[in-house]
Amino acid sequence: MTIDRRQFLTTSTLALAGTAAPKVLLFGQAPPQTPPVTKFEDIRRNVGIFTGQGGTIGWLATPDGAVAVDAQFPATAKTCVEGLQQKSPKGIQLLINTHYHGDHTAGNSVFRPLVKTIVQQERCAQLHKDTTTKAGSSAQQAYADLTFGESWSQEVAGDKVWGYYYGPGHTGGDAVIVFEKANVVHMGDLMFNRVHPRVDRPGGASIKNWVSQLERVAKRHSDATFIFGHAKAGQPVTGPSKELLYFRDYLSAALDHVQKGIRDKTSQDEIIKVESLANFPDHVTINPNITLAGVLTAAYEELSAR
Ligand SMILES: [Zn+2]
Repeated sequence: MTIDRRQFLTTSTLALAGTAAPKVLLFGQAPPQTPPVTKFEDIRRNVGIFTGQGGTIGWLATPDGAVAVDAQFPATAKTCVEGLQQKSPKGIQLLINTHYHGDHTAGNSVFRPLVKTIVQQERCAQLHKDTTTKAGSSAQQAYADLTFGESWSQEVAGDKVWGYYYGPGHTGGDAVIVFEKANVVHMGDLMFNRVHPRVDRPGGASIKNWVSQLERVAKRHSDATFIFGHAKAGQPVTGPSKELLYFRDYLSAALDHVQKGIRDKTSQDEIIKVESLANFPDHVTINPNITLAGVLTAAYEELSAR
């Protein structure tokens, strides 16, 4: 939310004049919190997405049962849980987290009383426990009941759900979740659509392996519909495999840009100081803490690590 400049000038003038203007929005005050807009959308064969605040939630729901992939934050998780309960009065069998970041796991606690099993890749489970314990927020978390290494699957609600681990990418523990019969694949934050991604190096990220796993997943599920963790405003949070290859090319371009800078003995400061990557001007920052400079810094550290 931004404050319209005209509105700011008017309200400031009113404030300066001492006019009793009720609910005047003064500069420096936080804008009123508007509740996030939430939405359920179908993809196909009882699988769809829920958008609210944080990473896109994927779901499978039939009268026999339901599955959620990721949990956003508690406020929107509540709306999601209520919607899934309506679609599936018998309850929610599984909650699967694609990775440990708060905008995908903080809502786990809302799902907890209604969900039979919470599933995470084992590296994700470790990162979730370690980071939340360190942050002193473990009491607000709901952790995994079931973890897997390379892959896992379960038949549920008329489909077969798979979790696959392709090694480090956005973090050290990202899982790709597949609804086999619906042919829908949830990428979590392995996919950012036209947005500069977070590269979580302290969490074990690897841009090089991220590039190769996008390629492997796109090839393996070439005709699937993919769910993306995040997208720029106006861009979809779902799409075909060619979008994975486009994002692979963006990450490759980031590595190439940094590699060239290192080869030319350009300083790290100079290397990361670019407005956009050549051929990828459409990628934007949606979170001020997650920028192209951050991606390039991570690439620099990765490429110069011994
Ligand atoms: Zn993330």
